[in-house]
Amino acid sequence: MRLDKFVCKSTELTKTEAIHYIQQGRVTVNGEPVVLEATQVHENNDVRLLGERLVARSFRYIMMHKPAGTVCSNIDEAYPSVFQHLSVDKPNELHIAGRLDADTTGLVLITDDGRWSFHITQPNRGCSKVYHVLLSRPIADDVAQRFAKGIRLQGESAATLPAQLEIITSTEVRLTLTEGKFHQVKRMFSAVGNRVVGLHRERIGDVVLDVPESGWRYLTVDEVRSFT
Ligand code: URA
Repeated sequence: MRLDKFVCKSTELTKTEAIHYIQQGRVTVNGEPVVLEATQVHENNDVRLLGERLVARSFRYIMMHKPAGTVCSNIDEAYPSVFQHLSVDKPNELHIAGRLDADTTGLVLITDDGRWSFHITQPNRGCSKVYHVLLSRPIADDVAQRFAKGIRLQGESAATLPAQLEIITSTEVRLTLTEGKFHQVKRMFSAVGNRVVGLHRERIGDVVLDVPESGWRYLTVDEVRSFT
């Protein structure tokens, strides 16, 4: 990781403050002052600020069961933020890998590791997201086939990536996507003349939601690694 990031992660300093200390020669790596903030360091290196050994906190990886009526943002908007349910240090350093709408419930993954969330959110990585969907009308016979081929959403030039639809009952389905366009599930059903009245995310990749509503837990090492 970059030296300035290492200093930030192991102290209360902001990035600007960390860079200032580094450029002033106050940070040593294995006994030598290092003045370039972009220098790569490893957790095993002896990094010191003003002679004090720094230990980088490791990244955090969390699953949360988002309740309805909350927003996936650090700031309360029209609804309270999901972060109000998370009792951890420095919650403002965390972000959500793949947001849900205010009325959607289910699995959100929360982290401070931007590279890791990239694996989850980038469509070309093919990370699957599984949604349980309730519909206002019985589903038409051709919808599974249309979703499998990809459909054009209003205002989009490219078709959606192939999506898998499992019919549970005429108004209850399970949809697996590998991308996350804005309001994608709702817009896909709207494009085939239906309407989503209930939406819940059950799974992302191999990680299955298993905490009660508003609950959260740290991911296991295997769960974290499953995305990389
Ligand atoms: N698709 C939607 O329409 N809403 C969500 O919250 C997630 C996926």
